[in-house]
Amino acid sequence: MSSGNSSADDVRQVWDVVVVGAGPAGASAAYAAAVTGRRVLLLEKAELPRYKTCGGGIIGPSRDALPPGFELPLKDRVHAVTFSLEGRFTRTRRSKQMLFGLVNRPEFDQQLVEHAQKAGAELRTGVTVSRVEQHGAAVPDRRTVAVVLQGGETVLARAVVGADGSASRIGAHVGVKLDQVDLGLEAEIPVPETVAEDWRGRVLIDWGPIPGSYGWVFPKGDTLTVGVISARGEGAATKRYFEDFIARLGLAGFEPRISSGHLTRCRTEDSPLSRGRVLVCGDAAGMLEPWTREGISFALRSGRLAGEWAVRIAEAHDAVDARRQALNYAFALKAGLGVEMSVGKRMLAVYQRRPGLFHAALTGFRPAWRAFRDITQGSTTLAEIVRTHPVAQRALTVLDRRPATEAGPEEHQARGEQDGRETAAS
Ligand SMILES: Cc1cc2nc3c(=O)[nH]c(=O)nc-3n(C[C@H](O)[C@H](O)[C@H](O)COP(=O)(O)OP(=O)(O)OC[C@H]3O[C@@H](n4cnc5c(N)ncnc54)[C@H](O)[C@@H]3O)c2cc1C
Repeated sequence: MSSGNSSADDVRQVWDVVVVGAGPAGASAAYAAAVTGRRVLLLEKAELPRYKTCGGGIIGPSRDALPPGFELPLKDRVHAVTFSLEGRFTRTRRSKQMLFGLVNRPEFDQQLVEHAQKAGAELRTGVTVSRVEQHGAAVPDRRTVAVVLQGGETVLARAVVGADGSASRIGAHVGVKLDQVDLGLEAEIPVPETVAEDWRGRVLIDWGPIPGSYGWVFPKGDTLTVGVISARGEGAATKRYFEDFIARLGLAGFEPRISSGHLTRCRTEDSPLSRGRVLVCGDAAGMLEPWTREGISFALRSGRLAGEWAVRIAEAHDAVDARRQALNYAFALKAGLGVEMSVGKRMLAVYQRRPGLFHAALTGFRPAWRAFRDITQGSTTLAEIVRTHPVAQRALTVLDRRPATEAGPEEHQARGEQDGRETAAS
């Protein structure tokens, strides 16, 4: 609890930092704030562990953003990727070193929350935050934010972190602006041991029929996580793609344990990330890789920064100081994750028009596969590759302009020659 001297503090508890939402972003923010010794309250509307529609793919940047001592509860280690283009031209690429890991989100998220609790954060589950107020009767002074819970209870804080996911109420308060909304459909399909064995250590990525869409199979022991994602507004076509995808894989006969849908949202470049003493992070801030829709590493990284800056805002003596810290938070996010997002957005624009080129490059052009491998393993990022390789930068610019009808030789090769081939380990 804050050691502030105001008379209001004597009557009502005032938390240093209240975090709304206990996904990877919220748990990460709560951990970062709690390890500094501040009083941190983490509010979650569900009971934990809770299900979250997600592939659970943990790439290098996610692994590197985990709190110290965190042991990933991996369900599988990916060493091979089978790529297909609308179910055809299937080709598998392999790597001796693990490419990325796969987790079940309920278990992963709960473990992250436990880490935040061990660092000193207090957790309340089964509480839904209705809104936050920074002015008015509920707010005892200008250094305090009122967090209003469903049912009417009010919790007070010096700073609030909104990590309440893609339908964020705190994001609405901050005024987060979005320019990409996608619909993900996913099923958790228990399969017999023979089927599970066939998938062990290998994922499938299918470049889909709707511009910008793709599908995946992520094995988790005796269960396959199968999903597709596409721009919102193509609901019927996305559902059809999902059903065809499952049928094509020979999985239609197995009853899914869970079948669900979820929206993902990407922020506009100029979208706010704070308002007064309230910060947003993760999906609540629209922080997501626009091309792959990878969001766990964005949630963990933006959550950690939000937790660190929320502590500084909690200590700010006035609105000017609080605003300075909030701007520093926004600056840190934009300089890192913001750059990754803008490169991802350009990749998506090219991919939407030329999925065949991506397929051809990843399956037939060794440097492209190496880049995929290095990005998933975390030794580089897409933004870093584009920044340091003038050829990659030029290719992205040229392809963004070239009409989609002009298929290059690589795409002809993909369509003509590659059906069913396997590649050597690299
Ligand atoms: C189909 C699909 C597949 C995906 N696959 C991957 C993948 O393989 N790898 C990857 O990196 N990313 C993936 N993502 C993205 C990833 O799931 C998200 O980016 C990530 O979960 C964001 O974490 P978060 O903590 O910001 O939000 P969330 O994980 O959504 O957590 C938000 C939390 O806030 C709580 N909450 C919401 N409202 C309130 C409220 N009013 N009061 C209190 N609590 C509240 C929710 O219950 C929830 O626990 C996928 C997304 C989809 C849709």
